[in-house]
Amino acid sequence: MAEAYDPGNIFAKILRGEIPSHRVYEDEAVVAFMDVMPQGTGHTLVVPKAPSRNMLDADPATLGALFAVVQKVAVAVKKAFDADGLTLMQFNEPASGQTVYHLHVHVIPRFEGVPLKPHSGQMEKPEVLAEHAGKIRAALAG
Ligand code: 5GP
Repeated sequence: MAEAYDPGNIFAKILRGEIPSHRVYEDEAVVAFMDVMPQGTGHTLVVPKAPSRNMLDADPATLGALFAVVQKVAVAVKKAFDADGLTLMQFNEPASGQTVYHLHVHVIPRFEGVPLKPHSGQMEKPEVLAEHAGKIRAALAG
Protein backbone atom coordinates (compact mmCIF):
# COMPACT_ATOMS: atom_id res chain seq x y z
CA MET A 1 0.00 0.00 0.00
CA ALA A 2 1.51 3.33 -1.10
CA GLU A 3 1.89 6.12 1.44
CA ALA A 4 -0.58 9.00 1.37
CA TYR A 5 0.17 12.30 -0.37
CA ASP A 6 1.70 14.84 2.05
CA PRO A 7 0.60 18.44 1.24
CA GLY A 8 3.64 19.69 3.21
CA ASN A 9 6.10 18.56 0.51
CA ILE A 10 8.39 21.19 -1.02
CA PHE A 11 6.74 21.23 -4.47
CA ALA A 12 3.29 21.69 -2.92
CA LYS A 13 4.74 24.71 -1.11
CA ILE A 14 6.17 26.03 -4.40
CA LEU A 15 2.79 25.49 -6.13
CA ARG A 16 1.04 27.42 -3.34
CA GLY A 17 3.62 30.23 -3.64
CA GLU A 18 4.85 29.69 -0.08
CA ILE A 19 8.46 29.35 -1.23
CA PRO A 20 10.03 30.92 -4.34
CA SER A 21 10.97 29.23 -7.59
CA HIS A 22 12.27 30.30 -10.99
CA ARG A 23 9.14 29.59 -13.02
CA VAL A 24 9.31 29.17 -16.78
CA TYR A 25 5.74 28.01 -17.56
CA GLU A 26 2.30 27.86 -15.97
CA ASP A 27 -1.18 26.90 -17.17
CA GLU A 28 -4.32 25.74 -15.36
CA ALA A 29 -2.94 22.26 -14.72
CA VAL A 30 0.87 22.37 -14.85
CA VAL A 31 3.84 24.48 -13.67
CA ALA A 32 7.51 24.26 -14.75
CA PHE A 33 10.44 25.73 -12.82
CA MET A 34 14.22 25.39 -12.54
CA ASP A 35 15.68 22.58 -10.40
CA VAL A 36 17.79 24.23 -7.64
CA MET A 37 20.37 21.41 -7.80
CA PRO A 38 20.65 20.98 -11.56
CA GLN A 39 22.22 17.84 -12.99
CA GLY A 40 23.01 19.86 -16.11
CA THR A 41 22.60 23.38 -17.53
CA GLY A 42 18.89 24.18 -17.85
CA HIS A 43 17.59 21.29 -15.71
CA THR A 44 13.84 21.99 -15.47
CA LEU A 45 11.07 20.31 -13.45
CA VAL A 46 7.56 19.94 -14.88
CA VAL A 47 4.96 19.55 -12.13
CA PRO A 48 1.19 19.00 -12.29
CA LYS A 49 -0.89 21.09 -9.89
CA ALA A 50 -3.10 18.11 -8.96
CA PRO A 51 -1.74 16.27 -5.91
CA SER A 52 -0.18 12.82 -6.30
CA ARG A 53 2.97 11.29 -4.82
CA ASN A 54 4.22 10.09 -8.18
CA MET A 55 3.15 8.23 -11.34
CA LEU A 56 1.69 5.33 -9.36
CA ASP A 57 -1.21 7.24 -7.79
CA ALA A 58 -1.72 9.93 -10.46
CA ASP A 59 -4.98 10.39 -12.36
CA PRO A 60 -4.45 9.47 -16.06
CA ALA A 61 -5.92 12.87 -17.03
CA THR A 62 -3.17 14.51 -14.96
CA LEU A 63 -0.54 12.49 -16.83
CA GLY A 64 -1.99 13.62 -20.17
CA ALA A 65 -1.81 17.31 -19.22
CA LEU A 66 1.64 16.82 -17.66
CA PHE A 67 3.25 15.14 -20.67
CA ALA A 68 1.81 17.66 -23.13
CA VAL A 69 3.71 20.32 -21.16
CA VAL A 70 6.80 18.10 -20.80
CA GLN A 71 7.03 18.04 -24.60
CA LYS A 72 6.49 21.82 -24.88
CA VAL A 73 9.15 22.52 -22.24
CA ALA A 74 11.55 19.95 -23.72
CA VAL A 75 11.42 21.60 -27.15
CA ALA A 76 11.94 25.06 -25.58
CA VAL A 77 14.80 23.93 -23.34
CA LYS A 78 16.61 22.25 -26.24
CA LYS A 79 16.27 25.47 -28.25
CA ALA A 80 17.21 27.77 -25.33
CA PHE A 81 20.56 26.03 -24.73
CA ASP A 82 21.16 24.74 -28.27
CA ALA A 83 21.37 21.26 -26.70
CA ASP A 84 22.34 18.13 -28.63
CA GLY A 85 19.68 16.06 -26.84
CA LEU A 86 17.49 15.79 -23.76
CA THR A 87 17.13 13.37 -20.87
CA LEU A 88 13.72 12.95 -19.21
CA MET A 89 13.68 11.36 -15.73
CA GLN A 90 10.83 10.49 -13.38
CA PHE A 91 11.29 8.61 -10.07
CA ASN A 92 8.73 6.65 -8.06
CA GLU A 93 9.24 5.96 -4.34
CA PRO A 94 12.51 5.99 -2.34
CA ALA A 95 13.98 2.83 -3.89
CA SER A 96 14.03 4.61 -7.26
CA GLY A 97 15.74 7.77 -5.98
CA GLN A 98 12.60 9.91 -5.53
CA THR A 99 13.22 12.60 -2.90
CA VAL A 100 10.22 14.95 -3.31
CA TYR A 101 6.83 13.24 -3.09
CA HIS A 102 4.78 15.29 -5.54
CA LEU A 103 4.76 13.94 -9.11
CA HIS A 104 7.29 15.66 -11.41
CA VAL A 105 9.30 15.06 -14.57
CA HIS A 106 12.92 16.17 -14.96
CA VAL A 107 13.83 17.73 -18.33
CA ILE A 108 17.61 17.95 -18.72
CA PRO A 109 19.41 19.32 -21.78
CA ARG A 110 22.31 17.09 -22.89
CA PHE A 111 25.50 17.96 -24.72
CA GLU A 112 27.78 15.52 -26.53
CA GLY A 113 30.41 14.17 -24.11
CA VAL A 114 29.03 15.95 -21.01
CA PRO A 115 27.90 13.56 -18.24
CA LEU A 116 25.03 14.32 -15.84
CA LYS A 117 25.99 15.71 -12.43
CA PRO A 118 24.78 13.79 -9.32
CA HIS A 119 21.06 13.75 -8.45
CA SER A 120 20.21 16.29 -5.70
CA GLY A 121 23.87 17.36 -5.71
CA GLN A 122 25.05 20.98 -5.52
CA MET A 123 22.85 24.10 -5.23
CA GLU A 124 23.09 26.46 -8.22
CA LYS A 125 23.42 30.26 -7.73
CA PRO A 126 20.03 32.03 -7.89
CA GLU A 127 21.33 34.45 -10.54
CA VAL A 128 22.32 31.56 -12.80
CA LEU A 129 18.91 29.91 -12.35
CA ALA A 130 17.23 33.26 -13.11
CA GLU A 131 19.28 33.67 -16.30
CA HIS A 132 18.50 30.13 -17.45
CA ALA A 133 14.79 30.57 -16.66
CA GLY A 134 14.79 33.74 -18.78
CA LYS A 135 16.26 31.85 -21.75
CA ILE A 136 13.62 29.11 -21.47
CA ARG A 137 10.77 31.63 -21.15
CA ALA A 138 12.07 33.39 -24.30
CA ALA A 139 12.20 30.08 -26.18
CA LEU A 140 8.65 29.23 -25.05
CA ALA A 141 7.46 32.64 -26.25
CA GLY A 142 8.66 32.02 -29.79
P1 5GP B 1 13.26 13.56 -7.22
O1 5GP B 1 14.41 12.86 -6.58
O2 5GP B 1 12.12 13.62 -6.25
O3 5GP B 1 12.90 13.04 -8.56
O4 5GP B 1 13.77 15.02 -7.53
C1 5GP B 1 13.53 16.14 -6.76
C2 5GP B 1 14.30 17.27 -7.41
O5 5GP B 1 13.90 18.46 -6.76
C3 5GP B 1 15.82 17.17 -7.27
O6 5GP B 1 16.40 17.20 -8.55
C4 5GP B 1 16.21 18.39 -6.43
O7 5GP B 1 17.40 18.98 -6.87
C5 5GP B 1 15.01 19.30 -6.62
N1 5GP B 1 14.70 20.15 -5.49
C6 5GP B 1 14.76 19.83 -4.17
N2 5GP B 1 14.34 20.87 -3.40
C7 5GP B 1 14.01 21.86 -4.28
C8 5GP B 1 13.51 23.20 -4.08
O8 5GP B 1 13.31 23.68 -2.98
N3 5GP B 1 13.27 23.92 -5.21
C9 5GP B 1 13.51 23.44 -6.47
N4 5GP B 1 13.24 24.23 -7.50
N5 5GP B 1 13.99 22.18 -6.69
C10 5GP B 1 14.23 21.41 -5.59
